[in-house]
Amino acid sequence: MTETRSTCPYCGVGCGVIIESDGAQITGVRGDPAHPANFGRLCTKGSTLHLTASAAVTRQTRLLQPMHRAQRGAAPQPLGWDEALENAAEKFAHVIREHGPDAVGFYVSGQLLTEDYYVFNKLAKGLVGTNNIDTNSRLCMSSAVAGYKKTLGADAPPACYEDFGHAQCLFIAGSNTAWAHPIAFRRIEDAKAANPAMKIIVADPRRTDTCEIADLHLPLQPGTDVMLFHGMLHLMLWEGWTDAAYIAAHTSGFDAIKATVRDCTPERVAQVCGITREALFEAARLFATSAATLSLYCQGLNQSSSGTAKNAALINLHLATGQIGKPGAGPFSLTGQPNAMGGREVGGLANLLSAHRDLGNPQHRAEVASFWGVPAVPDKPGKTAVEMFQAAADGEIRALWIACTNPAQSMPDQATVRRALQRCEFVVVQEAFATTATCAFADLLLPATTWGEKDGTVTNSERRISRVRNAVARPGQTRDDWVIAAEFARRLEARLGRAGTLFPYADAEAVWNEHRESTRGRDLDITGMSYAMLEAAPQQWPLREGEASGRSRLYEDGVFPTPDGRARFADVAYKPLAEAREARYPFSLNTGRLRDQWHGMSRTGTLGRLFGHVPEPTVQMHPQDMARRQLADGELVHVTSRRGSILLPVSASPELGLGQSFIAMHWGGEYISGRSSTGELLAGVNALTTPAFCPDSKQPELKHTAVKILKAEMP
Ligand code: SF4
Repeated sequence: MTETRSTCPYCGVGCGVIIESDGAQITGVRGDPAHPANFGRLCTKGSTLHLTASAAVTRQTRLLQPMHRAQRGAAPQPLGWDEALENAAEKFAHVIREHGPDAVGFYVSGQLLTEDYYVFNKLAKGLVGTNNIDTNSRLCMSSAVAGYKKTLGADAPPACYEDFGHAQCLFIAGSNTAWAHPIAFRRIEDAKAANPAMKIIVADPRRTDTCEIADLHLPLQPGTDVMLFHGMLHLMLWEGWTDAAYIAAHTSGFDAIKATVRDCTPERVAQVCGITREALFEAARLFATSAATLSLYCQGLNQSSSGTAKNAALINLHLATGQIGKPGAGPFSLTGQPNAMGGREVGGLANLLSAHRDLGNPQHRAEVASFWGVPAVPDKPGKTAVEMFQAAADGEIRALWIACTNPAQSMPDQATVRRALQRCEFVVVQEAFATTATCAFADLLLPATTWGEKDGTVTNSERRISRVRNAVARPGQTRDDWVIAAEFARRLEARLGRAGTLFPYADAEAVWNEHRESTRGRDLDITGMSYAMLEAAPQQWPLREGEASGRSRLYEDGVFPTPDGRARFADVAYKPLAEAREARYPFSLNTGRLRDQWHGMSRTGTLGRLFGHVPEPTVQMHPQDMARRQLADGELVHVTSRRGSILLPVSASPELGLGQSFIAMHWGGEYISGRSSTGELLAGVNALTTPAFCPDSKQPELKHTAVKILKAEMP
C-alpha cells in the first residue's frame, strides 16, 4: 500500500487528505493530521472519496477516451487524441478567422487546479485574443471578489480559520456552514466549546442546522441583507458604538454612508427585513462592542442581484467598528468550490487578469502581455457566465469549450443555456465524467483526469495553497486538464500563425513556476512559494521570495491596497429582489446545498450511502403554507416560475418562513423532470431560476426566484 498526501476536491475548506492506494486503485482515504485546515478531520463527503473514486470507474460513469459526434443527437464515437485535438483546433481557428476571436468562449470551473486555470486563461487572453473566459465560480464567489475590491482594495480575504478561536462574536450571514463547510463548522463548534462566552449570530431566512449553535438567529426576508446591515450601522452610530479613531486613521468615505443609513431606522428595518427591533439592536450591539468580531458569509450574500452591495455593506460594519486586522476580527468570505480562490489568483474570469490585475487597467494589460510575450491583451470586456450563454444563444458566440463543469444543469435559466449549446457550431466538453447533462450537447468529448489522478495546487478560503497529488495512474486515455488545454493551444498557435512558444510546459510545476513569477510585486505575491516548499506544508499567501512562511492575517498595520492606503466605505443602496413576488408567483424559491451531495452529483451520486441523509428531492415549504393549499408531505406538486415548471414531492419544513420554499441544487434529470415555458424538456431546479445578476459582480440571483406551487393533478 502507498500513501499520498493530497487535498479534498469538494469544498473551499480545503482539507488535507491521505490517499491510500494499492498502486492501481485508490483503496482508502483519511484526514491528514498535519494539514492546518482540518488537522485530520473529514466530513461525510471527504471520508468517502475513495469509494466514489472506485465506484465512478466500476460503474462506468467515467469518460475514458476522446469521443465525437458526427451530428447532434447521434451516439458519440471514439477517436484518437491527435485527431480530436486537430479537429478542435481546426474548428476554433475557422471560427476565429471567419468571425473574430470574440466568437469563441471558454467556460471553466472552480474544480480545476490552479495550473489548469492558468493555462486556460493564457490560451483565451494571450493566444486567441478574447476575454471570453469565465467560470462556474462566477456563480459562487464573484460578489465576494467585487465586495473586497470595492472596500478593501484587493480580492484578499483578510482572516483565517485560526480566527474562530480568537473571535468573541461570530456573525454568520447567508451561510449554512454546518452543511456547506462542515469541517470549518466543527472548528467553530470547538471554539464555542472552549469559549462559551463567544456569541454567535446567524442571519439567514432559513433556520438551518448552523442556527443550532447560534445565540441569536435573524430570520430576515430573502434579499434584505443590505437593509439589515445598514440598520445595524444606523444603530451603531446612534448608540456611539463606532470606532471614530479607526475610521479617521484608516478609512475614507464615511460621511456618505452615514447619510445613506440615516433613514434605515429600526422601525424600517423591522418592517423590510421581518425581524424584531430587539433582535436588530442585539445584533448591532454584539457586533460592535465585542472584543473581536468575525463575519463568515457565503452564497446567501453572493448569489444575489445585490451581491456586491451585500458584501460591501457587511464590510462597512467592520470598518466602522475597527473589527478588522486583529486576531478574531474581520470579514471572511467562505468559498464554495475547492479552487475558486486559485481561479481568482490566475485571473480566470472575464474581467480579471493574472495575479489580481484588472482587465480594465491599461498598465495591467500591458504587464500581462509583456510577461506572456504576446502583442497585447484585448481590452474589450469578456462575457461573464450568464452573458456568455446568452451570447451563444443569440449566435454571437459560435464555438464553446467547457471544462470540468456542467452548465446544462448548474446555470440558471436552463432553457437559454440549452438553446445556446444547441445553436453553437462546435461544443467541446472536457470532462472526467460521461454522465453530465452537458455531455449530451458536445460535438467533441475530451476525457480528463480527476481527483487522485492529477497533480497541481489549490487555494482554500483562508488563502492557503495546498498540493494536490496523483496517487494512481491516469485511467484509460484520460489526460490532465492543463495538458489538454496546452496541447490544443499548440495546435491552434500553428493555425493562427503564432510562433508556438507560449505553452512550453513539461509538467504542472513548470506552469506553477510561471504563475508564481507573474505575482511578483502584487498583493498576492507568492514568489517565495515553490513546489518544494509546498511539499513540506501548505502555505498562505502572500509569501514573497526569501520569506519562510505566509501571512495568516491581513491589514494588521491598518494599511490597505488602495491608492491612499485607506479602506473605502461603500455607499451602497438597498434594492429589492430582481424578480418580485406577486399574485401569480407568490413564493420565493431558494436553492442551496445538501450536506452529503456535491454539485450535480457526478461523484457523490455514485454512492448509495450519501443518499442516507436526504434520499430524494423535495420542494420544502412551511407547514402552514402547505395546510392552506391542502398539501400533505410527499404529495407531488408543480413548481412553476416565469421560465419553466418542474414536478417533485413537497415536504414540510418549519425552518422556512411563510411564503418561502427551498429546493436543493444537486438533483439533475434522473430525479427532477420539467419543461420550459415554451415546452422544451428540462431538468432540475435551474429550469426555474432567473438569469438576473448583480450589475457589479455579474453573479446570478440563485437565492431567489418567484414561483407558484400547485398540487399536481393525478390522472
Ligand atoms: Fe472536503 Fe469540505 Fe468536507 Fe473538508 S469540509 S472534507 S474540504 S467537503
